[in-house]
Amino acid sequence: MATLITTRARARVNYGRWIADCPRPYCANAMRLTPGQAAFHCGGEGGCQLVAEVEWPADAVGIWAALVERPVPGTRNWYPDDHAEAVRLGLPHGQTAAELRDETREYEGVA
Ligand SMILES: [Zn+2]
Repeated sequence: MATLITTRARARVNYGRWIADCPRPYCANAMRLTPGQAAFHCGGEGGCQLVAEVEWPADAVGIWAALVERPVPGTRNWYPDDHAEAVRLGLPHGQTAAELRDETREYEGVA
């Protein structure tokens, strides 16, 4: 029986790259995204071949601009609001560009 999956793949920033986790239950795959990419395809080694619509944040450009100000690429991370992994790990999610800049100043030790 085929299963209709209506869940969208939610874009997030991970170590300075836009990615999305595969929304299919039990598929732990994640794929790199090109900004504005409309369709997610769970491809590559271990991909389940799911195709889903990508959900981008309304202010993707602003979020990205705030993150690239961080000198260390590994600190460029952003989760959409209520993203399951962020909630599970206790990480910030749904941050605005302004909140990301506040966080950058905090970690850079600049008042
Ligand atoms: Zn998948």
